[in-house]
Amino acid sequence: MDLVFLGTGAAWGVPEMGCPCRICERMRTLGEERTRSSYLLLGKENILLDCGPDIRRQLAGRPVEKLDAVLISHEHADHFFGLDDLLAFRRRVPREKWRPIPTYATKAAWTTIRKTFGYLLDSLLEPRLAVPGERLEGLQTDIYPFKTFHGETAPGSVGYIVEDNLPGETRKLVYTSDFIDLPKEEPRLKQPDYLLLQSHWLYEPVVNRPHHLSLERGLEFVKFWRPQKAVYPVHISEAYPLDGDPANDAMKKIAVKKALKDPETGLPYPQPTCQEEWQAVASRIFKAEGLEVPVIVPYDGLKVHLW
Ligand SMILES: [Zn+2]
Ligand SMILES: [Zn+2]
Repeated sequence: MDLVFLGTGAAWGVPEMGCPCRICERMRTLGEERTRSSYLLLGKENILLDCGPDIRRQLAGRPVEKLDAVLISHEHADHFFGLDDLLAFRRRVPREKWRPIPTYATKAAWTTIRKTFGYLLDSLLEPRLAVPGERLEGLQTDIYPFKTFHGETAPGSVGYIVEDNLPGETRKLVYTSDFIDLPKEEPRLKQPDYLLLQSHWLYEPVVNRPHHLSLERGLEFVKFWRPQKAVYPVHISEAYPLDGDPANDAMKKIAVKKALKDPETGLPYPQPTCQEEWQAVASRIFKAEGLEVPVIVPYDGLKVHLW
């Protein structure tokens, strides 16, 4: 199974439209961009994990003939507003051969998604229910949603555990999507091969209004779940201040609560501005925390072979 990181950015994409902050400026200079959440699993079934508003551009030029399923993690626009663009899959198939794409979300998430995309149901998308703790019905791949807490604006939020049974072994990938906590422990989350971990910021902010996870707090989950092959921080934003940046007063910039210190220098790890710096700081933190699992900061378009 292969995984393509179609969109690794936060809700508004980075660099943000018109934003003069130093992170956005640096990314523009380097030609870097993080678009909104979408991840593609290519195996015996082609499965889209979330379908953000940039899906048209993310899939352009990729030879994906058909989608066997779409899994929506929650009812925020950056995770499902691309659904209408999947019409392109239907338009290329003769009418009599078309089968709607099985699309999974929780009951609460469907309440919101239906309001926007009710007209797509049963023609483009076949609505199916994701019930936390229960295997998704109708797929060959074993997929289990697990309940996450992502604040009152997303009561329908879940993450997904994707399992593949190979001869003599089970392979496992966990996609947390947006969350701040888990309402209850889920034993199936333990020891995945791969973990896609929401890392909206590097450090916990003083106030966590959007109920997102920072990489700093995500370390707790890494230590508890003990992923084996790789951790991929995703849903990366630029909503943190850089020293001396006049744009620090912008609404989206949230001050850091207490920065993690590098034991080698005794100073806080520097806030990253670009792909290379994110990778460098994440690697240093994992090393200092004694985590042996590799941390790989993905960029848009990165394709990895899972198993
Ligand atoms: Zn999001
Ligand atoms: Zn969200």
